[in-house]
Amino acid sequence: DVKSITPITSSFATYQSDKWDYATEKKSFRLTCPKHFNFARDVIDKWAHTEKFGRSGGNPALWWVNDKGRELKWSFQEVSHQSKLVANVLLGPCRLHPTDIVIVMLPRVPQWWAINVAAIRAGVILSPGTTLLRPGDIKYRVNASGAKCIITNADCADSVDEVAADCPSLETKVIVGEEGKRPGWLNYEELTRRSTDNIQCINSLSTDPMTVFFTSGTTGSPKMTEHTHSSYGLGHIITAKYFLNLSRKSILWNLSDTGWAKCAWSSLFAPWIAGATVFVQDAPKFDPIRTLQTLASNPITHFCTPPTAVRFMIKEKLHNYKFPALFHCVSAGEPVNPEMLKEWTEGTGLNLYEGYGQTETTFVCGSYPSIEQRPGSMGKAAPGYDVEIVDDEGTVLPRGQEGNIGIRCKPVWPVGLFTRYIDDEARMQSVLRGDYYLTGDKATMDDEGYVWFMGRNDDVILTSGYRIGPFEVESALIEHPAVLESAVVSSPDKLRGEVVKAFVILTEAFRNADTEALTFELQEHTKRVTAPYKYPRKIEFVDSLPKTVSGKIRRVELRNKEWRRENPN
Ligand code: ATP
Ligand code: MG
Repeated sequence: DVKSITPITSSFATYQSDKWDYATEKKSFRLTCPKHFNFARDVIDKWAHTEKFGRSGGNPALWWVNDKGRELKWSFQEVSHQSKLVANVLLGPCRLHPTDIVIVMLPRVPQWWAINVAAIRAGVILSPGTTLLRPGDIKYRVNASGAKCIITNADCADSVDEVAADCPSLETKVIVGEEGKRPGWLNYEELTRRSTDNIQCINSLSTDPMTVFFTSGTTGSPKMTEHTHSSYGLGHIITAKYFLNLSRKSILWNLSDTGWAKCAWSSLFAPWIAGATVFVQDAPKFDPIRTLQTLASNPITHFCTPPTAVRFMIKEKLHNYKFPALFHCVSAGEPVNPEMLKEWTEGTGLNLYEGYGQTETTFVCGSYPSIEQRPGSMGKAAPGYDVEIVDDEGTVLPRGQEGNIGIRCKPVWPVGLFTRYIDDEARMQSVLRGDYYLTGDKATMDDEGYVWFMGRNDDVILTSGYRIGPFEVESALIEHPAVLESAVVSSPDKLRGEVVKAFVILTEAFRNADTEALTFELQEHTKRVTAPYKYPRKIEFVDSLPKTVSGKIRRVELRNKEWRRENPN
């Protein structure tokens, strides 16, 4: 019955993801928040209800496989049920109350999904972390957030115990997995077996805090970002419709680790808002060949990947794979180089749509099936966001001029925008300028509204009066067959102040090439494909680049090394 469907799920009940026009949606899309909203009740339970009465998309909510051949499928009713059991565990044996914080550090196991929905149902604020966090990171996160409980697996329990004594707020530790018996720890499996699904969902206000995400830490220490029940629970309707292009029939595989906001985007909120299937492969490490095989041997329709994974996949023989069900591929988190796009499309016959966004936001900007794709541009502002290029004071700049990517936040705060950096009021004030939230990224916007990414604020290079974005130079370099990956930063120079320097990882075929000749060749190549003044005057060949745990290049590290080398003080 239609009455039981919330506006959010009903907007997907008959939605056809292949039939929408960007210009129309941009003009007409409005997202208004109800006073009360709860993703567990208003999305999960609604789909469970629809499913129970035989009107679902027919696919499971969660389809989980691991690399040992195990498989599990959960319907929305099962997700709803599991999350109720776990909500009672959080409020009962874990002694948590609404607004308390729980840190969840788990690999891609089904329990992660149950715990997320459970915390939302109980009003407990969840903060996800990757299993790669070191004891020092754990201590920092627990103390910074004041977390009372940590849920993790046997592999990470040692790291937690190493620092638990220095974490005064931490009261309860829970271990996931049957083998996880440990003194001082509760066992998740035991507790859920004994729990009941008799629970009233908290009637959360849309504006109540729901999750705390730590940013990726690409530019410095990760920042604690607060999202509310509506900003992610409802705001990701934008991500679902316009970035992922989902409908109830979709089966979406997103590669992100559970520790990052990107996993919340594409493996939790957006697909379940749309009533789609979340496909999960629990495997320890990214492997391009296994990834391609998985896409080829399963009816996955939608694929979401970081650009760094694409860079490795296109080096495989893409032509040898057939992807029977796949039709919508997207990449986000870092810029998508035109060359990558070209090779992916040639090899797979499929487009690769780009998405731009942050931990602080939902999907903000991207390319869409109904607009022409301009390689090198991140596409256009998403419906629901008013994006402009602004100066440091928040004044809108003329088209074509470089400036900050700004999101209008006055007089109306966009639904998907975070509320604040926790315990960092000064930082929060520094990113609000005029009527805009400043993303910390630099770009230009052309007359047609396409946004052209240059780089992060601090990554833009100033040489001989020119401003050069690393993205364009890196995109030029990667077109050369010798370049697997590169990072472009500023380097000190006596004459010019600073110059462009490229750190380059060579492809297999060029590993033993003469570096002097190759340096010259890459410089000539860059001069040919970009404006000549952008060519890297310095090139260093390296075996690896410094990256965040989530695989983003940390140019700041390379830059600091460059400048310290010349000027040790
Ligand atoms: P930190 O804020 O801790 O330094 P981070 O900014 O990498 O880390 P995230 O919130 O995960 O943390 O990433 C958002 C950033 O990623 C954006 O601000 C932008 O710099 C970059 N980004 C995301 N998508 C794109 C894209 N399509 N093109 C270019 N850059 C992108
Ligand atoms: Mg950031």
